[in-house]
Amino acid sequence: MTVDSVTSSPLGPPATEKDAKALQFIEETTKNTDLVQERVLGEILSRNAETEYLKRFSLDGATDRNSFKSKVPVVTYEDLQPEIQRIANGDRSPILSSHPISEFLTSSGTSAGERKLMPTIHEELDRRTLLYSLLQPVMNLYVPDLDKGKGLYFLFIKAETKTPGGLVARPVLTSYYKSEHFKTRPIDPYNVLTSPNEAILCPDSFQSMYTQMVCGLVMRQQVLRVGAVFASGLLRAIRFLQLNWQQLAIDICNGTLNPKIIDPSLRETMSGILKPDPELADFITKECCEENWEGIITRVWPNTKYLDVIVTGAMAQYIPLLEYYSNGLPMACTMYASSECYFGLNLKPMCKPSEVSYTIMPNMAYFEFIPHDPSAPPLSRHSPPRLVDLADLEVGKEYELVITTYAGLCRYRVGDVLEVTGYHNAAPQFRFVRRKNVLLSIDSDKTDEAELQKAIDNASVLLREFNTTVVEYTSYADTKTIPGHYVIYLELLVKDPANNSPNHEVLDKCCLAMEESLNSVYRQGRVADSSIGPLEIRVVKNGTFEELMDYAISRGASINQYKAPRCVNFSPIMELLDSRVVSVHFSPSAPQWTPEQRS
Ligand code: AMP
Repeated sequence: MTVDSVTSSPLGPPATEKDAKALQFIEETTKNTDLVQERVLGEILSRNAETEYLKRFSLDGATDRNSFKSKVPVVTYEDLQPEIQRIANGDRSPILSSHPISEFLTSSGTSAGERKLMPTIHEELDRRTLLYSLLQPVMNLYVPDLDKGKGLYFLFIKAETKTPGGLVARPVLTSYYKSEHFKTRPIDPYNVLTSPNEAILCPDSFQSMYTQMVCGLVMRQQVLRVGAVFASGLLRAIRFLQLNWQQLAIDICNGTLNPKIIDPSLRETMSGILKPDPELADFITKECCEENWEGIITRVWPNTKYLDVIVTGAMAQYIPLLEYYSNGLPMACTMYASSECYFGLNLKPMCKPSEVSYTIMPNMAYFEFIPHDPSAPPLSRHSPPRLVDLADLEVGKEYELVITTYAGLCRYRVGDVLEVTGYHNAAPQFRFVRRKNVLLSIDSDKTDEAELQKAIDNASVLLREFNTTVVEYTSYADTKTIPGHYVIYLELLVKDPANNSPNHEVLDKCCLAMEESLNSVYRQGRVADSSIGPLEIRVVKNGTFEELMDYAISRGASINQYKAPRCVNFSPIMELLDSRVVSVHFSPSAPQWTPEQRS
């Protein structure tokens, strides 16, 4: 039943009255983008007028855009580091925010090798919760009957640390899952999870994953969607099933729980869920003992309608593997968020990954945009860039995102580059293009994440006829050789190793295919200047990137937010990768390059 009659939405007929309200909120907020933005900036500036940071710029109580833009500088994390350090050290005076800093959120972005610490305030949880509350009503527009089953979502928390001044520092998702907002969320029949809170909130990643998997298996017929935050998290869950299905089957057969699960509250919760089910155990054994795991998600969870995982940005490379494991189920990218601020949502979550556009919600923060021109000289304090407002962006152009948050970040460069693809009402919609400054450089060349991904895609085309996909990759600028050269570490999934695997020659050609798709500065360095040596591929053993992730997690990375680094130069990581190399390949010839024609 829809409540079309109650409140219809231009987005579509809402499934419930609650959904109708959420959709109406989206409509009203996006219709009034500029007004909402003006109000948000006014609120932030007036409440933070007495902070040490804003007082520095002599706003004298002004809360209008012109004063703000003319007086307050655009900054990076590094610019704010002294203030952030003082807060971390225990200075409770209103430095960035008039509201007390409640905790630090540890970003996956780093500064000088360390995770960035993002100060936040308690009420930001309300804003995050508000954004989450909009996701289901939008999904219900496209996928009916989600109230007839459950969602199997692999969600994790991470142990937290304290700053010298005693503030908690943890990933934003840990903060959210541990909050009352999440733990005591109202029951929504459209959004029932298979994982009990005790499993999600168990800080031990094995126990958490194991019990979430048990629940997913026990309730397999009820599962209507399978998800994780990022695609890599879902693949990790599949890998976990590969490694642990035997024990899982034993537990399900006998109704007992693996003795490695020692958390008492978790054991108690699981005792209410796990009952002997030999038939299910047989089924799991039959499906999982097969060599071929193609379509395993749809085999084990046959009623799955879609995967709920982010596959945009750096996660795009996982699409083929997820398609393989899910028999091509749709992949829904529902939201775009960061530790600094949650930005917005995808109003067409069932679209193809290549067509995903996120609508930034104007109530979340004050948003500005630096037009992104790759050929422009770097920004300096002396030639401040012209920043554009959320309501004034041009379709087809790329911009770098700059935010001013309620928690006290002012004109802060997030480091994400977005392309405007259209508008929903007066709110622009964005394709996530890339995160800035992930570079490989040997000479004057600069290769960013998107270019590297494109090069991998180009090489993948050659591998496809050998039924082989790239599972994971990273890169390294090897300057120990003269001239230096790019090294690409590849982990491959050869689906039929006995009969059809890529030979040495094919992998050599992959090196060249990568070079052919790199930018002209790179190719000029290779061809005309000989300042760059032939690109090298090092194929690593299966499971190597899993080990890399375990290593990162052991050093404090969050499972939820973990993304494989696209460029590495940290010795222990290099040593790990190099010790797993099974074959080495070089470009057999130089790529194409001709001087640009300038008329
Ligand atoms: P973190 O601060 O560790 O939460 O990382 C936030 C960053 O992850 C963002 O600034 C983006 O670069 C990236 N990210 C978050 N959501 C998405 C998304 N939906 N698509 C692509 N990249 C994303």
